Amino acid sequence: MSGSGTASEGRCLCGTVRYRVSGTLGPVRYCHCRMCQRASGSAFSANASVPVERFALLAGADSIREYEASPGAFRCFCGRCGSPVFARLAFDPAHIRIRLGGLDRPHGVEITAHVWTDSKSSWYEIGEALPQYGQGFG
Ligand SMILES: [Zn+2]
Ligand SMILES: [Zn+2]
Repeated sequence: MSGSGTASEGRCLCGTVRYRVSGTLGPVRYCHCRMCQRASGSAFSANASVPVERFALLAGADSIREYEASPGAFRCFCGRCGSPVFARLAFDPAHIRIRLGGLDRPHGVEITAHVWTDSKSSWYEIGEALPQYGQGFG
C-alpha cells in the first residue's frame, strides 16, 4: 500500500467508515468503566489518545453517528454496523480517542494502564493476558 511505515489504517465492521492515524498511537489505556463495557459489549475498551491533526477520515463521514454518553463526551460509531470508532471530548478538542480494535496494523502502541478497575467485570481477570493484545478480544 502507500509506503508510510508509521500510519495505521482502520475501518468499522461493515467498512463504511475508514480512517487513518498518522504516526505512532502512543499510550493506550484499557478502560474498564461501565460505559465502555456497555458500549463495547466486552470487558473493557482499548483507547489511544491522538492529536486530531493526525487523524483523517477516509470514508464514511456521513455514516458516523454520535452519542453523548456523558456531558461533552461523544462516542462516535458507524450508523450502519454500530462499530465504535472514536470518541471526542468537548473539553479536549485537540485530541481524539481512537478505539484500537478497528485498526489493521496499529503502530507504536504502548499499553500503559488499566483504568476504572473498580468497575472491572467479574468475568475478566487482569493479569498476564495484558501483553496478548492483538490476538483479539471477543
Ligand atoms: Zn460500519
Ligand atoms: Zn471507559
